[in-house]
Amino acid sequence: MDFSCVEDCSDCCVRREYHPTRRHGKVGVLLLPGEVGRVRELAAGMGLRAEILPRIGVSGDGGLRVIAYQLMGIDGNGDTCPFLGDGRSPHGGRACTIYGERPLACRAYPLSGLDPVRLDAKCRFCGECGAKGGEDGLAEVGVDGGLGGEEEALREIIGRTAAGGRVWRYATGVCEPGDEHLVCRGWIRD
Ligand code: SF4
Ligand code: SF4
Repeated sequence: MDFSCVEDCSDCCVRREYHPTRRHGKVGVLLLPGEVGRVRELAAGMGLRAEILPRIGVSGDGGLRVIAYQLMGIDGNGDTCPFLGDGRSPHGGRACTIYGERPLACRAYPLSGLDPVRLDAKCRFCGECGAKGGEDGLAEVGVDGGLGGEEEALREIIGRTAAGGRVWRYATGVCEPGDEHLVCRGWIRD
């Protein structure tokens, strides 16, 4: 089966999740350190407010080094990427206004593993093809085509975020209404 986006779907540009636990709050779109400046520039050029927080840090002899950041959603509950426009993409979903310069994480989605191929089970394609998510939220699916660009992007992310040391995650404090008492803000050691 080949991967293709579900007609009219924009879920991955809209919905944000608690990750890795509810305590960490809702995450944004992962940005590598080298992508942060350009994303800020694009947002400024379009008059958009883009909140960028740290996401993953590695501690060692030289203190804490941030190896990934995150672009937060514009809704109070963390949803909706600031770059999601009202125009339509070829599959009918809402179009990304920076498609040609979108972050590597957007290029890789929904691919989350390479050997075997694993997809984020929340991607609507998984639902449509009947794949079930495991406890880690990923689905092993028999996709054998249509993921060339995603594979390349995921390999690049893995290569650029490989780092030794103790891993820390930045809790965003962003949550659904009513969950405020469950979430934290600040660094949490893995
Ligand atoms: S990658 Fe998945 S969730 Fe995102 S638009 Fe395509 S089908 Fe929808
Ligand atoms: S940058 Fe574009 S592709 Fe990425 S989440 Fe935002 S709207 Fe979607």
